[in-house]
Amino acid sequence: MKRILLVTILNFVAVATLFSQYQSKYPDIPIVDVHVHACGITDVSNFVKVSEITKRKYASNLAFFIDLDILTDPIAEIKAAGKGRFFFAVSEMSPHKGITKTPEEIVSKLRDGYVGLKFWFSDPRRTILEGEEGITRADDPSYDRLFSTLERENALMTSFHIADPNGPFYDRTRWMADPVYYWNQIRAFENVVAKYPDLTIVAAHCAWLICQDAQIDYLRYLLSRYPNLHVDLSATFPYMHLVNYNNLRDFYIEYQDRILFGSDIGFNQRLLDEAVERTAGRYADYFATLETDREVNKGRSKGLNLPREVLEKIYYKNALRLYPGLKESMDLQ
Ligand SMILES: [Zn+2]
Repeated sequence: MKRILLVTILNFVAVATLFSQYQSKYPDIPIVDVHVHACGITDVSNFVKVSEITKRKYASNLAFFIDLDILTDPIAEIKAAGKGRFFFAVSEMSPHKGITKTPEEIVSKLRDGYVGLKFWFSDPRRTILEGEEGITRADDPSYDRLFSTLERENALMTSFHIADPNGPFYDRTRWMADPVYYWNQIRAFENVVAKYPDLTIVAAHCAWLICQDAQIDYLRYLLSRYPNLHVDLSATFPYMHLVNYNNLRDFYIEYQDRILFGSDIGFNQRLLDEAVERTAGRYADYFATLETDREVNKGRSKGLNLPREVLEKIYYKNALRLYPGLKESMDLQ
């Protein structure tokens, strides 16, 4: 009987350890999530709650958020709900169907305090139905006036979304299984980065050059050739088992000045409290991925255990350099 009890307790301890969530080793490093989706007051309030839970339960200081969504509520009210922790980008969510705002309208919004432009080019095949008209490449000349205006105005492209994940031959991913189409999008993206050398670009999801080892090499080539390019890590963690561990870790360390933390987390309107708790847990998993060498990514990968100086840059120092107004807000906290 005693033995059964002991085994039961040991099992319980083993399971509890496996699922116990990570308490950060770095409670003092502020973290900026440069890629979230919050389109209204409820979402923004939920993120503020997530930030509080993350601090209390997981000892991480998730201090600021850059929102990339189209806002549905009045900006002043949304800002108030964000309690000084939220910054907002102007969004063009379907540029393959034509841009909805003139470059001048976008620039005037940037002067009003929006931090940059989100340009969700992505995969036009997701939305252009067969036979329907649409722009198929991000280097289409119809975008020239927008990109050159942003470049001239010193504006930030907070999020250039290009392509979709394309995995190795044995595991292509459901998103972009066709490598020829994928590289067509990536090459168009490079043309934009090359054509506007003074346009500062943060490419979402590491420009999706992160699901094969050779893609990471191409990303090394882009980052070393184009100083105006930066990448965010949003949505990339679930794919890290597709590439070589040391290659990925070396890449993070080598390009520590050009990589920014992002999650791609979004809320549906009016979420239950438990979903807020779950989201805080998701953040704790991402922080464990970067800060420790424990098992992450549903047991498929080992954490990257990055040095403190690298974490500081990825978490906030690079963002402070790029996002207008962030430094002032951080000094106020
Ligand atoms: Zn996103």
